[in-house]
Amino acid sequence: MTTITLVRGDITRESVDAIVNAANSSLLGGGGVDGAIHRRGGPAILDDCRKLRASQYGKGLPTGQAVATTAGDLDARWVIHTVGPVWSASEDRSQLLASCYRESLRVADELGARTVAFPAVSTGIYGWPIDDGARIAVETVRAADTAVEEVRFVLFDERAYEAFAARVG
Ligand code: ADP
Repeated sequence: MTTITLVRGDITRESVDAIVNAANSSLLGGGGVDGAIHRRGGPAILDDCRKLRASQYGKGLPTGQAVATTAGDLDARWVIHTVGPVWSASEDRSQLLASCYRESLRVADELGARTVAFPAVSTGIYGWPIDDGARIAVETVRAADTAVEEVRFVLFDERAYEAFAARVG
């Protein structure tokens, strides 16, 4: 059984085995939570990301997939980078968003991570409505076949926290 916990705050302050980053496919950093993780985690994370670009992901990490790097100076062992879909009103991309959570947990299992912190993937710059983003996040984690013991959703603002709280019950 995976326990879901909710925290309001900055994910870069969390102490867990793995922190999930809402990255972009370049893996070379961006704004939002991605920028915050690289700022606080220091250059070792970007070094690892560059190596991944040079080896496995020359064209970038595809949407819905996940890959791990060091966590640098963060209080975690790994950062798991996942690329959420950009919200679209005309196309249903919810399977890609669900895949971000599923694939991140699969990578966490491969690493042996038991506590994993997630931001609300795609709900910032990528524009996904927070209520639907929370629904997909919670449903997907609940349905996941994983050895992760705690999934901690770390929500940056009150609105996001309330959306997740309404789903977790
Ligand atoms: P995306 O491009 O996937 O939308 P963003 O980083 O823009 O990624 O936003 C994803 C979510 O992360 C948003 O809900 C945003 O408010 C939140 N967020 C931004 N900074 C942080 C942080 N330091 N800790 C936790 N969540 C954050």
